[in-house]
Amino acid sequence: MKNNETVVVTGGAGFIGSHLCKYLLEKNYKVICIDNLVTGTLKNLESIKSGDFIFINHDITEYIEIKDNLSIIFHLASPASPVDYLQLPIQTLKVGALGTHNILGLSKSKRAIMLLASTSEVYGDPVEHPQSEEYWGNVNPVGPRGVYDEAKRFAEAMAMAYYRQQGVMTRIARIFNTYGPYMRMRDGRVVPNFIMQCLLGKEITIYGNGSQTRSFCYIDDIVEGLYRLTQCDYPMPVNLGNAQEISILEFANKVKEITRSKGKIVFRPLPEDDPKKRMPDIKKAKTILNWKPRVGLEEGLTKTISWFKNNL
Ligand code: UDP
Repeated sequence: MKNNETVVVTGGAGFIGSHLCKYLLEKNYKVICIDNLVTGTLKNLESIKSGDFIFINHDITEYIEIKDNLSIIFHLASPASPVDYLQLPIQTLKVGALGTHNILGLSKSKRAIMLLASTSEVYGDPVEHPQSEEYWGNVNPVGPRGVYDEAKRFAEAMAMAYYRQQGVMTRIARIFNTYGPYMRMRDGRVVPNFIMQCLLGKEITIYGNGSQTRSFCYIDDIVEGLYRLTQCDYPMPVNLGNAQEISILEFANKVKEITRSKGKIVFRPLPEDDPKKRMPDIKKAKTILNWKPRVGLEEGLTKTISWFKNNL
């Protein structure tokens, strides 16, 4: 089956972006990947042999020119690990604000559907649990995480303005913690940190006392959810994530168990504004997208750990 449609993926050399590019090529789209490789890497795209794939090295905070007609623009470009956005605060703010503005302009001129990859970070350190899309969040704008949280909140506001005032077909996915193969091994997030520490026989570093919770979703489920969101006409935010909540201490023990690591668990200071709880309410995704996560933590972690082992 030949699909004549061309789609763009910004941040296509990143973790989620590269999986999405491969998924879309399998669906026979022509894929234009735009990335400035600040946190993404061409290594994530090495396995792509398709003639329907184009990579453009470009910073989307600068004007973007694309000649092709486009049907969908997936806008994922942004540093996403707390360690990255603390090191790249201005770039993070710029890509969320100026980058999103350029992408919305491009979507408007191409009459393309525009999917914004937003984040559970818009809920900040939430006082409502689990987090539904109606919750407005509890974000510290001037804290260290503010650069990412507020950039994404601004991006959501701008997407809604283009939807309401300009008729752009915007979609907003609020992506919760996601993991899987092709995560950067040293991006500082908890999944690669614990896996690497366990595989290398090092100490496992828990920040705080490990009672904070997260809900981890396997990459294939997120990619499917992102695509489905572009295939319906719902413009308001939709949470995408796994509703299986786990404390970071339990998570460390799970990674230890699967890797059979004998590494000692050590406790380090909790970073500022680190959310104490996080779990998505995914009723909307279930009803609107007919979507729910299929891969459980045990299965997803086993696959991820084996990829890390093979790519050390
Ligand atoms: N964390 C940890 N040890 C690490 C890295 C992270 O205990 O080596 C904690 C971190 O403080 C947070 C949780 O794990 O509470 C998830 O952190 P991550 O950086 O993956 O992303 P976040 O969910 O905070 O955006």
